[in-house]
Amino acid sequence: MLNGKNALVTGASRGIGRAIALELAKQGANVAINYSGNEAKAQAVAEEIKQMGREAFIVQADVASETSVKDMMKEVVSQFGSLDILVNNAGITRDNLLMRMKETEFDEVINTNLKGVFVCTKAVTRQMMKQRSGKIVNVASIVGISGNPGQANYVAAKAGVIGLTKTTAKELASRNIHVNAVAPGFISTDMTDALTEEQHNQMLQMIPLEKLGEPEDVAKVVRFLASDDANYITGQTIHIDGGMVM
Ligand code: NAD
Repeated sequence: MLNGKNALVTGASRGIGRAIALELAKQGANVAINYSGNEAKAQAVAEEIKQMGREAFIVQADVASETSVKDMMKEVVSQFGSLDILVNNAGITRDNLLMRMKETEFDEVINTNLKGVFVCTKAVTRQMMKQRSGKIVNVASIVGISGNPGQANYVAAKAGVIGLTKTTAKELASRNIHVNAVAPGFISTDMTDALTEEQHNQMLQMIPLEKLGEPEDVAKVVRFLASDDANYITGQTIHIDGGMVM
């Protein structure tokens, strides 16, 4: 499905990003593993991919910093020679009720989750325009559509990512660059493991399929959107949420 394609996944050392990197590699892609802090975990993902017979390497960058991202793109393009797939996955949470949310908590989340997508997309666009092809998949969230108390910063960022996806899809369509998003619901990762049992049970009551999703559930849809099977799809946001938001 992705034989010979070169991909970059941000925040790929664990959770959903790791699952996406492995899934793309399973389908034939070479993958650059971006990480911000945990080099050992990122290296472990790269090693797993190399064992599948694909190329893989790690690349450190803070997605919220344009300088850092430009350096990362240069390194990835010089190692691979081209870049066919960008998955903007890196994200953080700093949950708090609106009245208690600090300006720093708002700014950190907007900078990583929204500005990070803008900066990485801008940085990859020149290369993809030269190639006259490319697939960009943004990891948004279902709460960017539904809203969620205690997450004003996160919801604003993810709603922004959905808007950014539509605009970049329209701007880049004539260059054969496809831009889509996925909106996961509650997926079992370090992010959701931090929830209390009560919060966990409340979540289950909202999900028609009565279970949390797995990182692989997200990875498989990202792999589809990154492949030629999705060549007539752009600007869309696919819900991966067990039917929570219809
Ligand atoms: P996670 O915390 O396990 O992984 C996030 C990754 O992003 C980590 O590897 C982290 O190091 C990296 N990261 C954070 N800030 C970064 C930065 N500035 N630069 C580079 N990398 C950075 O969380 P996850 O659940 O795997 O989340 C992955 C994505 O999926 C996020 O965008 C998240 O918002 C989104 N998402 C998750 C869920 C869920 O239920 N887990 C639901 C909807 C959306």
